[in-house]
Amino acid sequence: MSTSTLSAEEMIALDKQHIWHPYASMIDPPPAYPVVSAQGVRLKLADGRELIDGMSSWWSAIHGYNHPILNRAARDQLEQMSHVMFGGITHPAAVKLARLLVSITPPSLSKVFFSDSGSVAVEVAIKMAIQYWYSSGHRGKNKLLCLRSGYHGDTFGAMAACDPVTGMHHLFSDVMPQHFFADTPTCAFGQPCSDEDFASFRQLLEQHHHEVAAVILEPIVQGAGGMNFYSPDYLKRVRQLCDQYDVLLILDEIATGFGRTGKLFASEHAEVVADILCLGKCMTGGYLSMAATLCSDKVSRGICEGEAGVLMHGPTFMANPLACAIAIASIELLISQPWQRVVSNLETQLRQGLAPALDVSTVADVRVLGSIAVIEMKQPVDMARIQQQLVAQGIWIRPFGKLIYTIPPYVMNDEDLATLTRGMVNVVKKN
Ligand SMILES: *Cc1c(COP(=O)(O)O)cnc(C)c1O
Repeated sequence: MSTSTLSAEEMIALDKQHIWHPYASMIDPPPAYPVVSAQGVRLKLADGRELIDGMSSWWSAIHGYNHPILNRAARDQLEQMSHVMFGGITHPAAVKLARLLVSITPPSLSKVFFSDSGSVAVEVAIKMAIQYWYSSGHRGKNKLLCLRSGYHGDTFGAMAACDPVTGMHHLFSDVMPQHFFADTPTCAFGQPCSDEDFASFRQLLEQHHHEVAAVILEPIVQGAGGMNFYSPDYLKRVRQLCDQYDVLLILDEIATGFGRTGKLFASEHAEVVADILCLGKCMTGGYLSMAATLCSDKVSRGICEGEAGVLMHGPTFMANPLACAIAIASIELLISQPWQRVVSNLETQLRQGLAPALDVSTVADVRVLGSIAVIEMKQPVDMARIQQQLVAQGIWIRPFGKLIYTIPPYVMNDEDLATLTRGMVNVVKKN
C-alpha cells in the first residue's frame, strides 16, 4: 500500500494501533494530527486545514518549512553523497561545518564531535568529562552536579542529569547513575543573584567537588524541565566556582543555541565560556537530526593523553554529509541576516501579544525572552482538551504541565504572530 492511498482516517487509526509517540501511552492515546505538508510557518493537515506553527517542531525549524535555500543544500549534497562512514574518512561538509561552528563559538572551543541527536551530544559531553579526569588519575571525579528543573535528553546518561521528579527518575533509580542536584535557580532573568539564591549550588560543590567531574546545565533558559529563565549572574557564579574547585562546565545549548534567547548562544548573556558545549535541535533548521559536542584543547588533550588515548564514542551516522550540508546552509542563512533584530522584534510582539493573559485569574505568570514565550498556569492543563482548542484557533502549540509556551520560527511575520498570541490568550481564558 503506498502512503498516498491512505485516507486521514486510516492514517490516524493505523498510527494509533502501531506507533509510539513521544511520552505517550499505547492504551487509547489521543489521536495524532496528520500533517501532510509544511510550508513557511504553516503545517497543512490531511483535512486541508492549515495551522500556524508556534513550536518550530521543538525549537528546530527556525527558518520555517520547505525553505528554498535549505532544500537546495539538501539536493546538492544528495547528488554528491547522502552518507559515508566517518571512521578513517572525512568529507567537505563535515570540515566546513566544523570550521563554521568553531568560528561562531568562543575561541577556546576548537574541537568538534558530531553526533545524531541532542541526547547523544550530552552522552558524549559526559563521557568527555569523565574520561578527562580518569586520564589524569582522578578516577573518583565521575559525578555530575546538575540543576533541578533541568532537561538534557532521554538516554540513560542524559536522563540521569535531568530533573529527578519531572524526569520520572524513580522508575530507573536502580540502574541509573546518581548525581548531585542543586535547587532550581530562582533569581529571574534581569535580576541579580544573591548569595542565598546561589547557596544550594555552592554548598553542593564545596562538599562534593572531589567527586564531581563536571557541572552540566542549560544556560539562562531551562527548557523542557520547566521553561525557567534565570539570572546571568547565577551562571557567572557557576563558572567562578567551577574554576575555583577545578570542575569542568558543560553547557547544554541544544535548545538555546543559534539565537533563540536573543544572543547567538545563551551563555553570552553572562559572558561565560564552557569547557564542553552541546549543540543540536535547530542546527539543521529542523531538516535532519544532528548534534555536536565542542570542547577545548585542554579537555581534548587531557582525554587523549590518558590510558585510552582516544574518545570512546563513534556513531554509525556520525557527521552525516546530508545533515552537515543542511546545517551549514541553515547557520549561514541565520548569521547572514540581521537575526538580532529579527529575534528582538519577535520578543516585542510576543510580549505585547501575551500581555492580556496576565489579567486571567488562572494564569500564574507570563514571561518572554528572545523568541521564547511562556504562559504559566496555576494548575496543570488538560493536554488533549487544550490541544483541540488550540487547533480550533488555527495554531499549533504543544503545552506540557502548567506551561503553554511558544517558540515560533524566526521567519514568522507580525500578522501570524498576532494570530498565534491571540489564539493562545483565547484558549487560556477558557481554561
Ligand atoms: C531537546 C534537548 C535535548 C535532547 O535532544 P534530542 O535531540 O531530543 O535527543 C538535550 N538538551 C536540551 C537542553 C534539549 O532541549
